[in-house]
Amino acid sequence: MVAPYQELKQSAWEANMEIPRRGLAIYTFGNVSAFDPARGLVAIKPSGVDYQRLTVDDMVVLDLDGRVVEGGLRPSSDTRTHLVLYRAFPGLGGIVHTHSTYATGWAQARVAIPILGTTHADFLTEDVPVTEVMSEAAVAADYETETGNQILDCFRTRDPLHTPMVLVAGHGPFTWGTTPAQAVYHAAVLEELARMAFVTRSLRPDAERLPEHLIRKHFERKHGKDAYYGQKPE
Ligand SMILES: [Zn+2]
Repeated sequence: MVAPYQELKQSAWEANMEIPRRGLAIYTFGNVSAFDPARGLVAIKPSGVDYQRLTVDDMVVLDLDGRVVEGGLRPSSDTRTHLVLYRAFPGLGGIVHTHSTYATGWAQARVAIPILGTTHADFLTEDVPVTEVMSEAAVAADYETETGNQILDCFRTRDPLHTPMVLVAGHGPFTWGTTPAQAVYHAAVLEELARMAFVTRSLRPDAERLPEHLIRKHFERKHGKDAYYGQKPE
């Protein structure tokens, strides 16, 4: 018999293992969680375990209130941030947090990543948003939950499924997707967009945002109802 949480743990583990493979984190940096909406359960990387030693059975399974359902290790210290996002954003199947270099650079500069070219527009129709800097009171209250709340503030007027990424000011990126694998894909895409924008603004600090008609065109041809990018589904 397959253990009840095996599939969820497996998908969380596989997505976590993609993080060092894509050059998005070193040592124990970063974490990925996988969400099972039917059961309301999350599987997440344990705290402080090196990717090289990480196994499927190390994954910690929790409910949305943070009660551990299975697992002998402490969950990632960022778990409460993940839980805030799963509770608030319906449709998420996975969340990623990294300190990938370029995305973190923009987060530390507290600057939204401007939409400067069509690569960015293939994924998003706006700049990658950046949160406000957290207050001293919020940090003292419950740092990880408040990090989630900072992100929610930033998405009051945004659709999280349309803009599946954010920079937490002074900290680093969070990305998500309908699956943990897609959340990791978005983390890798974000890092590349951050790198391209950095190069562009280094070459020309006043480089302008892509005009709206090009943003729409690129986004629509990949994600619109008449999308024609890639191959037709079978
Ligand atoms: Zn972090």
